[in-house]
Amino acid sequence: MRTADTVLDAVREAVLRLEPYHCAREQALDGILLDANENPYPRTHDGVLLNRYPDPYQRALRTALSRYVGLGSDWLLAGNGSDEVLDWVFKVFDLRPGVAVAEPTYGMYRVLADLYDVPVITIGLDEGFRLNANRFLQQAGPSRLAFLCSPNNPTGNLLDSGQIRQILDEWSGIVVLDEAYIEFSAGSSLIRWVEQYPNLLVLRTLSKAFGRAGLRLGYVAAHPDLIACFLKVKAPYNLSAWTQAEGFRALEDLTDMLRQVRTIVAERDRLLEELRSTAGVLEVFPSDANFILFRCRDATRVWQALFDDGVVVRNRSSVKGLENCIRVSVGTGEENRTFLERLRFHLERL
Ligand code: PMP
Repeated sequence: MRTADTVLDAVREAVLRLEPYHCAREQALDGILLDANENPYPRTHDGVLLNRYPDPYQRALRTALSRYVGLGSDWLLAGNGSDEVLDWVFKVFDLRPGVAVAEPTYGMYRVLADLYDVPVITIGLDEGFRLNANRFLQQAGPSRLAFLCSPNNPTGNLLDSGQIRQILDEWSGIVVLDEAYIEFSAGSSLIRWVEQYPNLLVLRTLSKAFGRAGLRLGYVAAHPDLIACFLKVKAPYNLSAWTQAEGFRALEDLTDMLRQVRTIVAERDRLLEELRSTAGVLEVFPSDANFILFRCRDATRVWQALFDDGVVVRNRSSVKGLENCIRVSVGTGEENRTFLERLRFHLERL
């Protein structure tokens, strides 16, 4: 395990040395603002001022995030979706000789590794896509950083927190734990573990439970020394004023989010039952997320038939270990009923 002093060892020299660009809105957000070549005439949309550049430090938003997750705001930073945060990870750390990815999982970790020329070491998951810390420690080898996703996309299962703890305790690398779907899970978030483990980064997003995928707002929780590095590499105004204001609104009143999560979880559990009793569905994987992975006969043909009906699901058949698997997101009750009806229709005929 790393101490707070050594966590910066993994940061690229160029980032440590970097004198970042200082933008106008760092110093003042109000007053007679004649420092940023803005148009002085107020233009607002839905109460959000648009003629001014937004707060580069996302102060109000980070305060709201801090209240939501129970960490100080210097432990948090938001990106244009968590996909932007993932990009910072590749910019900030020296990832040679490679990164470890527990697969099958979210494809962007590998895409970014390919883009940044970082070799990937695949960590196999056990039966039921379970994380096995001992196997991880054997296979991760000299890699510098690992991506774990819990609940995992596309398999839907939560990773065991005991196994994650063992990795954090016994491994010298950095662990990026992606909790994009955590609000749908019966298990609890490990986000507060960042206080105990400076080698842990936790990623979250407002794209799923908060119903704001179009807003593009994800965030990372990490040791403030690492947050300072992310602040250096991010674009000065990475989040629009609108995004920051809408994110703040979403986090200040959680009623809507909590109600929708309850509805989606109830629908998911109903869909799980229905899929289990559907002829031609060979395996239904448990889900702690807002989607379900299942295996069926002729998945590619089934996927195409559903697509032709206007029901769009994700064919995961080409992923190693997920042969004949389809991932379906939990929709509204009506959408789920149509999906099931069409799925049953095609499975009977194909
Ligand atoms: N992580 C996981 C596991 C995801 O499934 C996704 C999106 N599908 C993301 C991150 C990216 O989310 P965002 O919309 O916050 O960029």
